[in-house]
Amino acid sequence: MPVRFPKKPRIEEKPDFKAGLEYWASIPASNNGVLGGFGDGTLPRVDALTSRMFLLSLLPRLSTVPSSIRPLAAATTPPTHRTRALDVGAGIGRVTGSVLIHLLDTVEILEPAPHFLQEAVKASPGWKGLKEEDGGELEEGVVGKAVRFWEGGLSGFDPKEPGETAKETGRRGVWKGVVGEDGLKLDYDVIWCQWCLGHLSTVDLIAFFNKAKLALDASEPDSLIVVKENLCPDQPKDGVQGSTVFDDDDSSLTRSDLAWKYAFNEAGLKLIREEVQLGFPEELFPVKMYALR
Ligand code: SAH
Repeated sequence: MPVRFPKKPRIEEKPDFKAGLEYWASIPASNNGVLGGFGDGTLPRVDALTSRMFLLSLLPRLSTVPSSIRPLAAATTPPTHRTRALDVGAGIGRVTGSVLIHLLDTVEILEPAPHFLQEAVKASPGWKGLKEEDGGELEEGVVGKAVRFWEGGLSGFDPKEPGETAKETGRRGVWKGVVGEDGLKLDYDVIWCQWCLGHLSTVDLIAFFNKAKLALDASEPDSLIVVKENLCPDQPKDGVQGSTVFDDDDSSLTRSDLAWKYAFNEAGLKLIREEVQLGFPEELFPVKMYALR
């Protein structure tokens, strides 16, 4: 969630999954809840719009209309496969509903807090192109949207095999004939991580990045991991590993730019692009988007 800046620095503490979940269990399953009180203003729209533009500029093939980033000629080429995204620490599915489902065919949602996940399931019929019923047949030539819900945390999670550590709690939209329906290993065009990676220790974060990297669709060279997170200031004395600020309330770490880059580097991820989110309220920690593969 967006967090007010500044906070008192307390370095070296580790997030605790149970303490984090206890915090989130006390938070209402709403935009305002997952956004720390910033759900009713302009932030959700500004956030979603910037995320969509960021994705489209990096993966123009996700655009369904001819545009300045997707030339006319390319628009006549039919897509070769269904595209898939993973939305981790997804809360009530805010990012899926306002960003990912508009650009990708299938979205897998991972979230550990049951009341958030239930709200995501409830809200999903309102997401673009999703039918209310589970299942449904894929009509000839029609690309139906599909979403699946997984209950679980990120520690130990393998995006290729979500069923190993997370529990499927439901699916919506068109699933018949979708790859991955029958326990096949999954791969992704986009793995989206927003405002949740602070719940992982740096060791667990690097382990997750390693697995996420291997789960990107190898047949599409532009497949991406996107990290969209708060940044605390870098303290020069902390050197290459950067700085962190621990938050007692939700047992999470806010990382500095260098701390993020340290983790990316340790996981062998290449930084493709970084962009500061503009247009958020000034009292918040700065937010950055990193595109990685
Ligand atoms: N990404 C969403 C939700 C942000 S709120 C959005 O931008 O709207 C942070 C979310 O992280 C909460 O839903 C919380 O339950 C989840 N979370 C907490 N600990 C986690 C963990 N260890 N792994 C994955 N998600 C976690």
